[in-house]
Amino acid sequence: MIDKNYLKVLKELGFEEIILDKSILNQKSSNQIDKIEELNKIYKEIKVCTKCDLHKSRTNPVLGEGNVNAKIMFIGEAPGEEEDKQGRPFVGRAGKLLTKCIENAGHRREEVYIANINKCRPPNNRTPTIEEQETCIPFLLRQIEIINPKVLCLLGATAYRGIFKKEAKITKERGSILEFMGKKVYITYHPAYVLRNPKEEETFCQDIKNVFKLAGE
Ligand code: SF4
Repeated sequence: MIDKNYLKVLKELGFEEIILDKSILNQKSSNQIDKIEELNKIYKEIKVCTKCDLHKSRTNPVLGEGNVNAKIMFIGEAPGEEEDKQGRPFVGRAGKLLTKCIENAGHRREEVYIANINKCRPPNNRTPTIEEQETCIPFLLRQIEIINPKVLCLLGATAYRGIFKKEAKITKERGSILEFMGKKVYITYHPAYVLRNPKEEETFCQDIKNVFKLAGE
């Protein structure tokens, strides 16, 4: 049985719906509880964080969500309007496209972990400045350490810049496999870009399949 504290921590982390996956529950261990507690510590910090100006425009910070033992961690840019309202990552149109491609790959969104470079919504969905990215990224690096996935999938140019500290043309880098913190890193488009360029949807979905293959899934 799943314990009440575990459910409480999940709720505090922003989960609105908890899917009871037997394979995940069977793995539930003190290690998993430790991970959730560590993530919850970060959540408490970002809730009151004023380290950059983005705190002024947030309704809710968005830590991330998913399987704390995920083999794959998707990293996007920053919360948008819907994410800011709900306190959850990738729940708008772009998130629906990402979820669709995960399902097309024969998997479920609940198997992976999803987070962003910045935890607070930039005004009018502008790209976070380099300074804002640099200020926020230590939270993400802690999440990567806690979750310890096999593969990071960077969604778009801001995720690439945040991780590798250099600019990239994603149309050129897409499909490449790099390394960071001892993990394989797969580069692809941000799903919001794919929504604006629907001819890229097939390529994007294929990339998501490649990410699962890379993780041995
Ligand atoms: S974006 Fe990150 S660094 Fe900036 S206020 Fe939010 S949590 Fe703090």
